[in-house]
Amino acid sequence: MDCLFCKIVAGEIPSDKLYEDDVCYAFKDIDPQAPVHFLVVPKAHITGADQITEDNAPTVGRIFAVIARLTQQLGCGGDYRVVTNCGKLAGQTVGHLHFHVLAGRSLAWPPG
Ligand code: 5GP
Ligand code: ZN
Repeated sequence: MDCLFCKIVAGEIPSDKLYEDDVCYAFKDIDPQAPVHFLVVPKAHITGADQITEDNAPTVGRIFAVIARLTQQLGCGGDYRVVTNCGKLAGQTVGHLHFHVLAGRSLAWPPG
């Protein structure tokens, strides 16, 4: 499948990996928008948040648990933002579900 994040998960495209397990993969964003900016993706190809179902929701739960642990390890304390852009209007540019994790600076609200 011609999917950038599937290729990153498979190691076909290099990435700065932070964590991986059987269901998810975390890596630094190539264009960081904060001192800490990484992405966590399911290893399975899910196109976006609108495709989350009761069946694949446990993977999303795992991802949030991984985010809690990784941000702790990276010294973010409990201060971080998790963002998923779904659809073109919301700014999704890669069609494989991903959660941005941003930390290390004060973050404005609401996002643009
Ligand atoms: P979206 O715009 O879909 O919410 O987020 C896609 C994110 O993927 C962007 O923040 C962008 O910087 C990141 N990105 C795009 N291509 C690559 C890549 O090849 N490697 C990494 N590590 N991040 C990428
Ligand atoms: Zn994919």
